[in-house]
Amino acid sequence: TSQFGIKEALTQLGVKDINEGTSTGLNHFANGEILESFSPVDGKLIGSVKMSTAQDYEKVILSATEAFKTFRLMPAPQRGEIVRQFGEKLRQNKEALGKLVSYEMGKSLQEGYGEVQEMIDICDFAVGLSRQLHGLTMHSERPGHRMYEQYHPMGVVGIVSAFNFPVAVWAWNTALAWICGDVCIWKPSEKTPLCGIACQNIIAQVIKENNLPEGISCLINGDYKLGGLMTSDTRIPLISATGSTRMGKIVAQAVAARLGKSLLELGGNNAIIVTPDADIKMTVIGAVFGAVGTAGQRCTSTRRLIIHESIFEKVKDAIVSAYKQLKIGNPLDENNHVGPLIDKDAVKMYSAALDKVVAEGGTILVEGGVLSGEGYESGCYVKPAIALAENSFEIVQHETFAPVLYLIKYSGDVDNALEYQNGVGQGLSSAIMTNNLREAERFLSAVGSDCGIANVNIGTSGAEIGGAFGGEKDTGGGRESGSDAWKIYMRRQTNTINYTTSLPLAQGIKFDL
Ligand code: NAD
Repeated sequence: TSQFGIKEALTQLGVKDINEGTSTGLNHFANGEILESFSPVDGKLIGSVKMSTAQDYEKVILSATEAFKTFRLMPAPQRGEIVRQFGEKLRQNKEALGKLVSYEMGKSLQEGYGEVQEMIDICDFAVGLSRQLHGLTMHSERPGHRMYEQYHPMGVVGIVSAFNFPVAVWAWNTALAWICGDVCIWKPSEKTPLCGIACQNIIAQVIKENNLPEGISCLINGDYKLGGLMTSDTRIPLISATGSTRMGKIVAQAVAARLGKSLLELGGNNAIIVTPDADIKMTVIGAVFGAVGTAGQRCTSTRRLIIHESIFEKVKDAIVSAYKQLKIGNPLDENNHVGPLIDKDAVKMYSAALDKVVAEGGTILVEGGVLSGEGYESGCYVKPAIALAENSFEIVQHETFAPVLYLIKYSGDVDNALEYQNGVGQGLSSAIMTNNLREAERFLSAVGSDCGIANVNIGTSGAEIGGAFGGEKDTGGGRESGSDAWKIYMRRQTNTINYTTSLPLAQGIKFDL
C-alpha cells in the first residue's frame, strides 16, 4: 500500500501512534477499550484507537455545553468565517483525507476525493448561508404592533454516522450546525474510527488558531452503546443519525421518549424505471454506476431496475455486457471499478442475498461470488451480480448493502412501474429514464415517486449538496445539506412587539380592568 502514500497520508493527518491508541489530544477523551481498524483493501491493521467510556462521554458533554455558551454569542457571519477556514484546511488535506477514506472504508480513490470535495462544497454553501438565516416578518392584526420570527442557535447536536460516508456526513451536519451557532459531538461508525480522528484533527487546528472553545467540535469513538448515551441525553436537543433503518427505529424511539428532535437518514431501496422511450446508453451508464459504485454500499445505490417488457431484453443484454467489463480490485488503483465490501459480515449478507433470491424463484443473470487469491487477501471482494426477480420477493423488499441488482419486468403504462417503485418500505432515491414528457411528469407528480429524491434521466446514486437530501417512510424523513435543511439545527421564535401605549388583545378580545 505504500505506493499509494497511505503512510504519508496518516502522518499528514496526525493519525499516529499506530496500534498504541490514537488520541487527538484536543477535546478527545478516550480511556476505554481498544478499537482496531482493519482495511478492507488488504486486510491489514491500519491503527487502533481507544473508545470513549461513559465517564469520557460526561467530560465531552460538559465541554460541549460550556462551548455553546460562548459560541452562540458569536455573530453568524463570523461563525461562517470559521467554517470558511475549515473548508480551506480541507482543501489542503484533500488528498491525504481522500486516501484515508479510500483505504479505511474501501471506496475508490476518486470517490474518496469526491467525498472530501463534498465536505468542501458544504462549507462553501454554509459560509454563504451564514448571512442568510432568514426568518419572516408578518403583519400583526393589532395596530402599532410588529411581528416577526427569528432563528436562534439550539445547543449540542449529536451526530451518529455510518461507515459508508465516513467523513462527508459529519461535515454535512457540522458545517450547517456551526454556522447556526450549535456545537457538535460526533460518534463515527466503529468501522471507520480513524477517519473520525483525522477530521477532528483538521477542525482542531481551526479552533486553536481562532482561540475558540474546544468543545465546539467533539469526537467520541465507540459502538452503539456510546450512541445510546447520546440518544437518551436531554442535554442534546438534536440527534442526527445516519445508518440502517433498524438503528433509526431504536434511535427515533429513544429521542422521542424525551421529546428531543431527530434527523434520520436511513436505508434506501432505490429503483430506476426504464420506459419504452428510454435512452438505452444513458440507462446503462446510470444503472451500472448506481449498482456497482462504492461496491453497492451507498444509501442511494441502485438496487432495482424496473424495465418495460418491450425493451427488457435489449436493456438486460446491454447491462449484462457492461458488467463483463468491470474490473474488481484495490480501490486505490484507479484502473479498478469495484473495490471491496467493508468487512466479512457484509460479504456474508451479500452471499445470503444471492442464495435467497434463487430460493424465492429468481434467476441469476450475472453470477456473483467471493474472490480469493492475490490482491483479494482481505476476503472482502465480491463480484457484482444481477438477478431477474419479482418486486414482491422478500429479499427484494430489503436493502442488501452490496452490489446486487434486481431486474424487474413491467407491462402497460408507467403507473404499473410506479406501483413497483413505491411498493417497498424505503423511500430515499428514485429515477426514471424516459424521453416521454407525459411519463416524466407523471413520475414527478403527486401520484408519482414517493421518494425524497426523484430524478429524470439521471440515476439514483449520489446527490448535489445544494438540494435537501433525505427520504421518506423507512428512510426516516430527515433532510440534510442544501435548500432550507439548516432550519432543523435552530430553534424558531415568534416575536411580537407593541410600540403603543395601550395593550390590545389578539382576536379583538376585551378584558377591561
Ligand atoms: P448501522 O445502522 O449499522 O450504523 C450506523 C451508526 O449507528 C453507527 O455509528 C453505529 O454505531 C450507530 N448505532 C447503531 N445502533 C445504534 C443505537 N441503538 N443507538 C445509537 N447508535 C447506534 O449502519 P452502517 O452499516 O454503518 O451503514 C449502512 C446503512 O446506512 C445503510 O442502511 C445505508 O443505506 C444507510 N445510510 C443512509 C444514508 C442516508 O443519508 N439516508 C447515508 C449513508 C448510509
